[in-house]
Amino acid sequence: MTEKCGSPGCTTLALLALPKCEFCDMRFCTRHMMPEVHGCGDACKKSGAPTGHRGRERTAAGTQAHWSG
Ligand SMILES: [Zn+2]
Ligand SMILES: [Zn+2]
Repeated sequence: MTEKCGSPGCTTLALLALPKCEFCDMRFCTRHMMPEVHGCGDACKKSGAPTGHRGRERTAAGTQAHWSG
């Protein structure tokens, strides 16, 4: 059982081991598996890409100075 890559013009067989694209529900070859490569880049961005963590800066705790005396 084989399935062709969903990218137009690509005749490469899609890898059934790879999960379907969650945006267009199609399988792609290794070259087109990335959403931005086969045309789902916008949808990927809108949904919030898993990559790109926002660095959260933690405020240093216990920085208040104590004057005793
Ligand atoms: Zn897609
Ligand atoms: Zn392809």
